[in-house]
Amino acid sequence: MDFTSDEGWHHPRIVPYQPLTLDPASMVFHYGQTVFEGLKAYRSNDGDIRLFRPEENFKRLNQSCDRLCIPNVNEEAMLDYLKELVKLDKEWIPTDSGTSLYIRPFVISTEATLDVSPSRTYTLMVILSPVGSFYKGGIDPVSIFVEDEYTRAAPGGTGNAKTAGNYSGAYKAQNRAADHQKAQVLWLDGVEKKYVEEVGSMNVFFKIDGEIHTPVLNGSILEGITRKSVIELLESEGMPVRERKISIDEVIAANESGNLQEVFGTGTAAVISPVGSLEYKGYDYVINDGAMGETASWLHETLVGIQTGELEDPLGWSVLVKG
Ligand code: PMP
Repeated sequence: MDFTSDEGWHHPRIVPYQPLTLDPASMVFHYGQTVFEGLKAYRSNDGDIRLFRPEENFKRLNQSCDRLCIPNVNEEAMLDYLKELVKLDKEWIPTDSGTSLYIRPFVISTEATLDVSPSRTYTLMVILSPVGSFYKGGIDPVSIFVEDEYTRAAPGGTGNAKTAGNYSGAYKAQNRAADHQKAQVLWLDGVEKKYVEEVGSMNVFFKIDGEIHTPVLNGSILEGITRKSVIELLESEGMPVRERKISIDEVIAANESGNLQEVFGTGTAAVISPVGSLEYKGYDYVINDGAMGETASWLHETLVGIQTGELEDPLGWSVLVKG
């Protein structure tokens, strides 16, 4: 689908996967005016396809568009187009456990000019790819490196938009984590480097003294759809989640005193990812003996069950596309 100032968003179409031809001066190459989304579709044995909260993805796409000065898309029309697309590709969605179809909508600015100003033309594309189970050999808690040199986002920046620069800007820290044999980066806030923000491509939760806590959304944290779902699910079970500022010192102190029971990340790819260890300022802290905790296990089982249609969907999250 394309955008021009005259016609707005127009010409939605489904075409075979193929390379793109773009002018080398296309603004996206130079100024990174681009946003994306990521969601999954599951297919059950009866052939029905389930999209998990896709309207949330299109809402967030528009929030990202606003921040990057990209014109909004029609969220309802996008959902209709997506349904068509997944129906067409349903044979590509495996029905075996844990596998799904990954859906990547994205927008690029295409005007060919070296001027530094918002583009007047855009293209929105959606690519689809079958993905295997995230945890092939069972759930394995991840190791985390608390990044205290680079920051991912700052107040007023693009942290809560899903835009390319946030990810390329994170590579240095990811490499630093890998040098320390850690799988993921835990980001701190961009002002004091004191408050926990999020993990790589996941939001983060802490179970302290039996209560679940997560960093409050502050404009520099991505508003994860899995995060929102975890909060709603726990609240529906009578377990309110405390959204607040959480300092890394508080997390370390809670671990030292034996009050930190669990740490886990939430995101579309892994759904729930338990954290087994945390390195901060040269010290390695083991969490919950490096094992997955009961809350993370329950959340993983429940969310995956709802997404695949194996469990009831009490909060009405799945959008069913009849096979
Ligand atoms: N934070 C970042 C930076 C991410 O890229 C993602 C993945 N989209 C998340 C958090 C988790 O968001 P969601 O639950 O919507 O996948």
